[in-house]
Amino acid sequence: MKFIETRGNDGQHPESVSFSQAILSPISSFGGIYSPESLPDLGTDFLNNHVNSNYKDLARGVLEAFEIDIDPATVDKALALYDEFDDPTNPVPVVKVFNDLYVSELYHGPTRAFKDMALQPFGVVLSSIAQQRNENYLILAATSGDTGPAALETFKNKANVRVACMYPVGGTSDVQRLQMVTEDASNLKVIGVKGDFDDTQNALKRLLASESFNKKLKEKNISLSAANSVNFGRIIFQTIYHIHSYLELVRQKAISMGEKVYLNVPSGNFGNALGGYYAMKMGLPVEKILIASNNNNVLTHLIKTGAYDLRTMSVVATTSPAMDILKSSNIERILFDLFGNVRTKELMQQLDTEKHYQLSEDELKIIQTIFSADYCGDDEGKAYIKNTFAKGYLMDPHTATCFKTYDTCREKNLKTIVYSTAEWTKFSPVIANALTGEIDAHDIDALKSIAAKANIQIPVMINELFNKEVTQKSIIGKEAIEEEILSFL
Ligand SMILES: *Cc1c(COP(=O)(O)O)cnc(C)c1O
Repeated sequence: MKFIETRGNDGQHPESVSFSQAILSPISSFGGIYSPESLPDLGTDFLNNHVNSNYKDLARGVLEAFEIDIDPATVDKALALYDEFDDPTNPVPVVKVFNDLYVSELYHGPTRAFKDMALQPFGVVLSSIAQQRNENYLILAATSGDTGPAALETFKNKANVRVACMYPVGGTSDVQRLQMVTEDASNLKVIGVKGDFDDTQNALKRLLASESFNKKLKEKNISLSAANSVNFGRIIFQTIYHIHSYLELVRQKAISMGEKVYLNVPSGNFGNALGGYYAMKMGLPVEKILIASNNNNVLTHLIKTGAYDLRTMSVVATTSPAMDILKSSNIERILFDLFGNVRTKELMQQLDTEKHYQLSEDELKIIQTIFSADYCGDDEGKAYIKNTFAKGYLMDPHTATCFKTYDTCREKNLKTIVYSTAEWTKFSPVIANALTGEIDAHDIDALKSIAAKANIQIPVMINELFNKEVTQKSIIGKEAIEEEILSFL
């Protein structure tokens, strides 16, 4: 399968690239991103063939259908990481919560958030390609909480790859910070930046674009890469669990094969939802994809009105911080797939220069046959956490936003798959507050309180964080980042 650019080709870049090329250099002509030229058919035959497949066999089937240029031994090694999830026979449990609401739990990996679903296998794939090509890569990451730990975890001790990960000091939860600063592998560097997430992300963008920085890396024989959520190497692994969750409903006899379902996704950069969109386009029987946001509700407006408008919006901090995003990068791949590269370039350039675009009425109609959207405020989210806990299910604030779209966006009584993107342990102060009204300054107090109330254990990998040695001690101003990274290399 070939990958082509969402904003067309400028004659400087190759007209199409392989999967491995697309994931090594994800930036292309006119600032576009690589997307599949066409999608395989994974309709009825594929689903019937895989109705009894375990997760890894299904994954192998999907990757084969994409005809990626990764050798089978590497694919096996990558997929073997799902054996490290809580239940190796079922890394993604799908749990019945209400009669027609099922939760697909994507957080049973090492860092307890759904970023592991894609970053775990992606780390193996990227490191293998780098070794085969005898190249060295520096992965730069800026994180507000979940991507950083998952990227560090997957690349630790991997050959030919180093990671420099920046986080805003005071801008993450205790658990998220400890997951990063206790990593001690010699190929990892974690840098606390005095400032907010935007400062960190802007520093990262400046470094990626800096000629002098790139030149110094070249002298050291190192190329830059990014493990951010537009990298197709992550997206491909995010189509698999949508298909798995559907087949799981068939196996649980909740639906019969071919029956349509709603996919209900808490969305930020739209990687998770894009995986669902591709699964639907490849033949998964999906009625619609419900897009849940928090008060950063730019996607709700887009899907309801066709307007993507950042002129009057700025990011607001919410209790679901992994969704505090206004520039939702993977929307571009939807525009490209539905409306082609000429229109995508026009819309995205308008967004870059004028901070807004407006879809035509016809385009909006097409979007609305696929997506429906709503947003959930912090207090509403807490109420969903509390009420759902009273009915026997504990969930995190990101997952809770989906319960709003479940209530407001469904037009038919079809089974609905809600994607749970984080374990309760990652956002415990919000959950403890929702359940008891308490206000905890430290995660450990909230964790203990929830564990007692719900009569569950704090998972070992979370508990032991509080006793681990802090090995990553850099805390610097944003002007010192470049020097800090160069001295690490
Ligand atoms: C990253 C993340 C999201 C948003 O996922 P996207 O693929 O960026 O839309 C939602 N919830 C949690 C907990 C996350 O870490």
